[in-house]
Amino acid sequence: MAGFEKVVGHPAVITHLNNSIQSGRVAHCYLFVGEDGIGKRMVATEFAKKLLCETPDGPSARPCGTCPACVAVDRGSHPDLKYIRHEKPATIGVDDVREQLNGDIVIRPYRADRKIYIIDEAELLNVQAQNAILKTIEEPPSYAVILLLSNNRDVFLETIRSRSVLVEFQPLRREDVARYIEAYFPPSDDREFALDHCRGNIGRALHLMEDENAREFVTTVCGILAKLPKLSVIERMDAVSELSQDREDVKEAMELFLAWYRDVAVLKATGDARQLQFGSQNIKKIEAAAQAYSFAALGRIFEKVRETKELLLANVNPESAFENLLLECGVAG
Ligand SMILES: [Zn+2]
Repeated sequence: MAGFEKVVGHPAVITHLNNSIQSGRVAHCYLFVGEDGIGKRMVATEFAKKLLCETPDGPSARPCGTCPACVAVDRGSHPDLKYIRHEKPATIGVDDVREQLNGDIVIRPYRADRKIYIIDEAELLNVQAQNAILKTIEEPPSYAVILLLSNNRDVFLETIRSRSVLVEFQPLRREDVARYIEAYFPPSDDREFALDHCRGNIGRALHLMEDENAREFVTTVCGILAKLPKLSVIERMDAVSELSQDREDVKEAMELFLAWYRDVAVLKATGDARQLQFGSQNIKKIEAAAQAYSFAALGRIFEKVRETKELLLANVNPESAFENLLLECGVAG
């Protein structure tokens, strides 16, 4: 049995997509939004498989997993399922969209009665490329289904958003990530570490399993976060230089800051450790922080984290962006 059963977690998303198939109301354009690594591509591919399957199994319309269509989807060779590729690494440009989507979608499907286009990392679509997509989704052929997968919904034109069905991916429960990770890796300290620090994201858990440097970096950042309220200004400046060594690290550090203070605020407000994204290895530290910081201080920190993310996007030197943030994080009252 292959199909949504093998997709880990995301029950709300899967119910929603199943219902759209069963009620015959599949939309022409979906916007799948959620963190990188959360499972958007896996769900998109299974959804496509379900739409293309030649012998869907009973009233739940599961893909059978064995018909030529299902096999072709698994092999990446179904002619009616296309993944849009892009020439430039950091942009999906108008030529990519014109050639692979607009020019192709007018040709009827070869085998199925639908034709499906998946655009991963759709946050990379520039404005011209989005306008080119818009042309197609304003008057789509009846058989067309376009899946835009993105870590950020704010990058899309309002005209795209209003013509798409928004599907939001939430962080997974720890047990869902664990089920997946435990199927591939034997018990170890690294496995516990990955589960405790992946914040509901399978992609991140895998990355933490496979990359010792990533584990070290997360340990460093969490160590700094735990100590921050007690650090002197000089110690905070040392932390700034430790955290801002390269731009990719800075991005990851910002996500950790956001997740950490989210957990601190949640614990302070609810007292319920089950709602935390960080696992048991950090709970004591988060409890201490929840006691140390006032709600007003947490509010100012969230504001500062947002501001810092914007500064980094605007290519401000990471060191000065971080300096600003860490000064604020030192003020607990
Ligand atoms: Zn099938």
